[in-house]
Amino acid sequence: MNLRELHCIVIGAGIGGLAAGALLARRGVQVTVLEARHYPGGCASTFTSGVYRFDSGATVGCGFHSGGPLDRLGRELDIAWPVQREPVAWQYRHGDLRLDLLPSRDNIIARFPGSKTFWDEQARIARALWRLSAEGLPWPVSGLRDVAGVAGRALASLPDSVHLLPFVQRTAWEWLASHGLDSDPDFVRFIDAQLLISVQTTSRHANVLNAAIALDLPVAGTWRVEGGIGTVARLLAESIERDGGAVLYSKKVIRIDSIQREVLGVETSDGDALAADMVVANLTPESLDYLDDSSPASVRDLLPPSGWSAFMLYLGVDSSVFERAGADHLQLVAPEGELGECRSLFVSASPAGDAERAPEKQRAVTISTHTKAVPWFETLHQNREQYESMKKEYTDRTLTLLFEQLPEAHDALCSVTAATPLSWEFWTGRRWGNVGGYAQTSLFGVRGPATKYNNLFLTGDSVFPGQSLPGVVTGARRTVELVLRRAGKLRW
Ligand SMILES: Cc1cc2nc3c(=O)[nH]c(=O)nc-3n(C[C@H](O)[C@H](O)[C@H](O)COP(=O)(O)OP(=O)(O)OC[C@H]3O[C@@H](n4cnc5c(N)ncnc54)[C@H](O)[C@@H]3O)c2cc1C
Repeated sequence: MNLRELHCIVIGAGIGGLAAGALLARRGVQVTVLEARHYPGGCASTFTSGVYRFDSGATVGCGFHSGGPLDRLGRELDIAWPVQREPVAWQYRHGDLRLDLLPSRDNIIARFPGSKTFWDEQARIARALWRLSAEGLPWPVSGLRDVAGVAGRALASLPDSVHLLPFVQRTAWEWLASHGLDSDPDFVRFIDAQLLISVQTTSRHANVLNAAIALDLPVAGTWRVEGGIGTVARLLAESIERDGGAVLYSKKVIRIDSIQREVLGVETSDGDALAADMVVANLTPESLDYLDDSSPASVRDLLPPSGWSAFMLYLGVDSSVFERAGADHLQLVAPEGELGECRSLFVSASPAGDAERAPEKQRAVTISTHTKAVPWFETLHQNREQYESMKKEYTDRTLTLLFEQLPEAHDALCSVTAATPLSWEFWTGRRWGNVGGYAQTSLFGVRGPATKYNNLFLTGDSVFPGQSLPGVVTGARRTVELVLRRAGKLRW
């Protein structure tokens, strides 16, 4: 079999699509990436607005630690990531509580002395999981070969895997309770805020193993990416082109052509039809259904969104605000009420003195909060004025919490622009602006890359292991493995 004869179309130049495309191109596959927007990166892109360069969604570079998913990808593709380790991953603020998230847990344990055994156990679980998944875990299993792969990995990682077994079906809440921490509302709120931004749900529902890895992020380290997070996507796109592939922008796929279980090619909104042996779809399953005439209309049009979208503010802010705060990333949490919907904010400022991102003495600042998408779409459907006032109300509530925690920001705003789930749908093609991937409540029943088609595979944060740059890069490896496995079965 000659991989050079294999033509793979990748729909979407998000990190998942680009990572899969770059790995395939490196193996010699002919790769064509079709991206609807005029820039790459999707949820992890950087865009220009007036005098600022804002990160659209993702702002914190993760997975660049030695042996981490991005580090490994860079080595394989000969990409030297222009990254610099952040001294503080982010700063948590809730009422008077201030916690810097650092590689060491000492400051958290000093504030919550009863949590020492919890953090010791978290570190042990995370270490075991990193070891177990170092070479990529064939999960969810797709056939006997994967079952054997998982079993082999588990046996090779004894006694780590035995140690993990009791946690497989437990929630983070039960885990907190086993350390007597469920009765400390400040600690629970702290943990919930960390889990919501990483595993997309709080301790009551999050799975312990997902939670333990998520809580390890500040320990593994976070990185500032030169030029903004969108540089990662740009370098991956360049890698594909260096390896003979193509990344075509403003090329929106509007239809998948298929016969029974084989995809023949795709059609784009500018009237092109491209044939493909394999297709990698960097889409949510709902967005894929929408391109697929063989999906019933009821599925395509009426699927209720699960999961989250995001409400965003993009601000120009006087630089001194962040110098005084002592961190470029801040997690601000309201005194009470369910997290999300402007009661928990993630605030990220472009690096001090980065003239490419903001004018002198200013920062380009991104603020995000989890929001449910349906009310936004329904409100716009009923009345545009109401939608605009909902946007204004969310803007005011977001700024109120910002000013409560950073009073100096009050007189330091130079510009404010809001974006809603409708913006996310437009920017990323995700139906209902459904960003953030799935809620990580269980390791079972998670979606893998396989679809009803033999030669079309999903990639991105809708498939295991889910959201974040390291998450989608790890998932992309699995997609590549399945594409190559399928290619091996084809006759040439
Ligand atoms: C607000 C927010 C903050 C986040 N913060 C962080 C963070 O700090 N650190 C971190 O690691 N992760 C973070 N994440 C998560 C991370 O950004 C995502 O998990 C990841 O970027 C998702 O990548 P993806 O490959 O799934 O695709 P996406 O980013 O969704 O990209 C899909 C691409 O496909 C294109 N596309 C869609 N439909 C079509 C079509 N029909 N034809 C052609 N092209 C199409 C889109 O335009 C888009 O470019 C954050 C996410 C959000 C929303």
